[in-house]
Amino acid sequence: MLDALRAALGPAGCLTGADVPASAATDASRTGHTLPVALLRPASVEQVSQALALCHAQGLAVVPQGGMTGLAGGAQPLGDEVALSLDRFLGVEAIDADALTMTVRAGTVLQVAQEAAAAAGLHFPVDLGARGSARIGGIIATNAGGLRVIRDGMTRDNLLGLEVVLADGTVLGNLSGMVKNNTGYDLRHLFAGSEGTLGVITRAVFRLRPAPASQATVLAALPDFPAVLRLLARARALPGLSAFEAMWQDYFDFSAGLLGARPFTTSPPVALLMEADDTPAVMDLLEAALEDGTVTDALIAQSLADARAFWDIREGLAIDDALPGLINLDVSIPMTQLDAYASACRTGVLARFPGAHVSFFGHVADSNLHVALALPQGSGADADHTAEAIAYDLVRDFGGSVSAEHGIGTLKRAWLGHTRSPSEIAAMTAIKAALDPQGRMNPGKVLPPRAQIPD
Ligand SMILES: Cc1cc2nc3c(=O)[nH]c(=O)nc-3n(C[C@H](O)[C@H](O)[C@H](O)COP(=O)(O)OP(=O)(O)OC[C@H]3O[C@@H](n4cnc5c(N)ncnc54)[C@H](O)[C@@H]3O)c2cc1C
Repeated sequence: MLDALRAALGPAGCLTGADVPASAATDASRTGHTLPVALLRPASVEQVSQALALCHAQGLAVVPQGGMTGLAGGAQPLGDEVALSLDRFLGVEAIDADALTMTVRAGTVLQVAQEAAAAAGLHFPVDLGARGSARIGGIIATNAGGLRVIRDGMTRDNLLGLEVVLADGTVLGNLSGMVKNNTGYDLRHLFAGSEGTLGVITRAVFRLRPAPASQATVLAALPDFPAVLRLLARARALPGLSAFEAMWQDYFDFSAGLLGARPFTTSPPVALLMEADDTPAVMDLLEAALEDGTVTDALIAQSLADARAFWDIREGLAIDDALPGLINLDVSIPMTQLDAYASACRTGVLARFPGAHVSFFGHVADSNLHVALALPQGSGADADHTAEAIAYDLVRDFGGSVSAEHGIGTLKRAWLGHTRSPSEIAAMTAIKAALDPQGRMNPGKVLPPRAQIPD
């Protein structure tokens, strides 16, 4: 079987044994421990089709892998699968500056697509902290959100065309990039967020946007969460509002402390990072907010370095190293309930695990809250699962979603039913069975085992 794959893809296209890099075992959740039987690296759509057809004929399961920056374990092999990476199928194929579209190969790193758009004087509408490693295929397969959803939408909102290869090698898709195309079921939206379970995404057409004007970046201190909502209501009127990121005190103090930053004289109950296009309008908004106490202190970046320093606190990359057992939860909660959820979650986790690290930040305007959770050493074998159960049971009680952006993968599979009804899960399972009847695409991810599907 491997000989046949090697013959189809060439020696560089089928790595086995010691040639398979350790990075193929785990994504950024650092929870994967199993290397794939082989790492397939097709260099064209035809090779993807050939590889999948061969695997299908031999009953071999396939795990698509992108930049391995996912946080849900979706790209991690679980057993005897081969992994398939598009790291040799790269590049921007075309930019249409009139239609404002980009046709791009799925192996392209996000930052490369962003830079190509910028070089054409345009703006690529998806951005996130993992931009230097995440690949377009992974971005689409997880329907990534990120830092600019308030202005630009989620990945699926910017997807005008998609090409995929199904488990049996069938190439499917439409790269015409038409904005208006009401000709039956829209297959793009099946694959956006499918996490490798329906097929391999090979190429896409993205909507581009005009390059944004220069931005005002603000770091503000707020007295409480109601003030965040008051400020958001006013900020929505700002031209080009593109970020509205809240950091609860526990997160802000921890992240700023790791960076040696102390932007405010006293630690604020909530810190807010806001970006918009029109600096005078932002200044007017802040002045009024400072006057009526909605904001207690505010800094406006005077340079790109200042803006980067504000974002460093928000992105909190240093936290990953400071808390080796870090679990990143990514949930949606009805907006007005975000603070109540944070309080209940903090109380619930600390009651069960005194001394745990629990801190909160989020894209407030998208109702998206991230929970940074690290349990004390020696908490026990099932401790992570127990802590997650506390957090996710509360998400269900608050009527939220167990995954706002990162997807279900393996890590949230047990909790899918907290957010999706039995009939929704049954419909998803029927779609999976129609496109991948043998269950060869990324088995063990997203959907519960068939035995647990309600009739
Ligand atoms: C520092 C950091 C910041 C992040 N910030 C955000 C954020 O703000 N918003 C957000 O949404 N996510 C964020 N993430 C999570 C992650 O970056 C995204 O989920 C990203 O979209 C994953 O892309 P990837 O190429 O690394 O995919 P991978 O991790 O390699 O794979 C993710 C899933 O996609 C599938 N897949 C990959 N390629 C293909 C393909 N070609 N065809 C079909 N399926 C495929 C895999 O099987 C897997 O299920 C962040 C991660 C890190 C480490």
